[in-house]
Amino acid sequence: MEHMPVLATGKTSGGRMKTLAFIHRNDTRFAVGDFSPVLTVFSHHELGNTVSPFLLLDHLGPGRLLPTSQRKGVNEHPHRGFETVTLVYAGEIEHRDSTGGGGVIKAGDVQWMTAASGVIHRELFSEDFSRTGGPFELLQLWVNLPAKDKMSPARYQNLTKTQIPVVELPDGAGTVRVVAGAFFGIAGPALTHTRMNVLDAQIVAGQTVTFPAEEGDTALVFVRTGEVRFAGGEVVDGQGMAVMSSHGGAFDVTVQTDSKLVILTGAPLNEAINAHGFFVMNTYEEILQTYEDLKQGKLGGKVQS
Ligand code: MN
Repeated sequence: MEHMPVLATGKTSGGRMKTLAFIHRNDTRFAVGDFSPVLTVFSHHELGNTVSPFLLLDHLGPGRLLPTSQRKGVNEHPHRGFETVTLVYAGEIEHRDSTGGGGVIKAGDVQWMTAASGVIHRELFSEDFSRTGGPFELLQLWVNLPAKDKMSPARYQNLTKTQIPVVELPDGAGTVRVVAGAFFGIAGPALTHTRMNVLDAQIVAGQTVTFPAEEGDTALVFVRTGEVRFAGGEVVDGQGMAVMSSHGGAFDVTVQTDSKLVILTGAPLNEAINAHGFFVMNTYEEILQTYEDLKQGKLGGKVQS
């Protein structure tokens, strides 16, 4: 079952708005394969169902790749039970999987990969980008699947830059790209299994933007660059994330400086999470079964080159 985008403004009947619950910040950058520097902005390992249906957000770069004949990235690895959403801002990522499928995700593109029952893939800087080198920056978001969809067939949605609508905010306040869900009645192209908004915003200094959400929704504001200020005076700057209250519907975001934000909202799954490495299931038995299935080649064979 696909979830059709909801075109609601997100205002609740009582008009009560979400407020800042807490600020989450990780500062340690590391390497994932030979992608570096990577910051795990948040993970369900730290925040549990507070961030549901989202599981994790990794930020690669910004950095600069020197021209190289090597293919840098993350070599073949499996996934099961969730989706990986890759937003490329600069550079190019080539993806190849064990079914022989593959493609290049370019700046402005988003790849929404539903691993579901299983994918084995490789994520590398593209051949062209490796040869020329240059600036790179990307985000990878992990989105959990409801238990009933974890063993569905894998699926890719390659959302190119031109397919992703850009909403111009009133009064020149900035722009919002709608990857999934809706904003100001404009629906994003991504098909999702549960109700969520994935929005990529650029907001001009001093402006306030109201983002839609429903009562009880998870709402996260990741600051790629810039500074967000909340009503109580709390400030979240680059690489920090605001976790909004579950109570309340829509919420206001005010930026102090020109800011690039990723806004994630959605209905929490409220299901148990049992995760190990690249697998996110509901129970430990399902994790053990996944390792068994991996050994038996049920998640796929070798990645074709
Ligand atoms: Mn992967």
